[in-house]
Amino acid sequence: MLTTVAAFDRIGEENAFAVLARATVLAGQGKDIINLGIGQPDFRTPEHIVEAAVKALQDGQHGYTPSVGILPLREAVARDLNRRYGVEVDPGLVMIVPGGKVTMYAAIRLFGEPGAEILYPDPGFPIYRSMIEHTGATPVAVPIREENGFAFSAEETLALITPATRLLIINSPANPTGGVTPKAEIDKLVKGLAAHPHVAIMSDEIYDHFVFDGEQHQTLLAYPEIRDRLILLNGWSKTYAMTGWRLGYSIWPQALYDQVRKLSVNAWSCVNAATQYAGIAALEGPQQPVADMVSEFNARRRIVVDGLNALPGVSCATPKGAFYAFPNVSGTGWRSAKALASALLEEAGVAVIGGPDFGIHGEGYIRLSYANSADNIRIALDRMGAFLARRDAA
Ligand code: PLP
Repeated sequence: MLTTVAAFDRIGEENAFAVLARATVLAGQGKDIINLGIGQPDFRTPEHIVEAAVKALQDGQHGYTPSVGILPLREAVARDLNRRYGVEVDPGLVMIVPGGKVTMYAAIRLFGEPGAEILYPDPGFPIYRSMIEHTGATPVAVPIREENGFAFSAEETLALITPATRLLIINSPANPTGGVTPKAEIDKLVKGLAAHPHVAIMSDEIYDHFVFDGEQHQTLLAYPEIRDRLILLNGWSKTYAMTGWRLGYSIWPQALYDQVRKLSVNAWSCVNAATQYAGIAALEGPQQPVADMVSEFNARRRIVVDGLNALPGVSCATPKGAFYAFPNVSGTGWRSAKALASALLEEAGVAVIGGPDFGIHGEGYIRLSYANSADNIRIALDRMGAFLARRDAA
């Protein structure tokens, strides 16, 4: 009998992957499934990015790279952030990692241990809580509320800070709600954090290109007063439709950089070389494919929101960012949003995720990703409408 460490009893999962697996099984049995469950763009990586990776392989980029990533890529990240946000970033503080999740992993490992408290958004990306629990730290949920447009409240967040708080995780634009926190609220949070110099901040900005209705993304990098305790998470997965490439980056405070570099040497050595060259092409090449994708998401967002609001018992606030809708389904009579999500998959052939998979404050909601064609989204909405009309709530 093998005995593994207890920390692995406390590790969670991302139910989107389980729903994807189930949807694949059902599709394999010949069922017609429309997948609005998974959070990845349904676009191909732009051709010039793919070509850069092919060229790198042909040029012999087959070996290890520096564990923090190749310098030209780190410089490209710094330039990109400067271009888009006017912020100065030292390429020496940029870390290239295999995907957005890895920054989360490193940040939570750095601060998580029994006795430590880590604040995270609820509903929020499920890996935050899972990793916090894995480290033995105490997860402290910051409720994300529909009545605030799914923005976080600075006041509520600051009130949850204690002397044991080590790390605060924030995410805007947000998964699963599509919420975008306004600049005024972020200003307030940063101001309040001055009274809590023992708290590090991890800002997950992986959806920073996906903002609609004239909103501007407000990066936490724009606040010099917290740069010495800010960890910025971002990456290529969503912006450049590169989820399978596993390419992300983070910006670290000087005091933490070397610790994370050592973690990378121990755990993943480096991101594969050709992918890093693709990353340069993505940042330095034409940005039109990104603009086109965002505009297509915007068009679908309107179809989803209008369609959901026409369903019996469903009301959907208009998400201002990311590519998710998080409708309130409590009026459908279904007591459990997870049961509703499961019935929608099994009986209506529409894969969505139950809100509670993103935290207890997600009860009463489901998440739809609109990373699917407008036609499929329309069919899915029709199926949901027919299902809700015929099926008694459970
Ligand atoms: N952060 C958020 C909020 C996400 O939604 C995701 C992916 O869905 C990630 C990070 C992870 O991105 P990656 O696939 O690059 O690891």
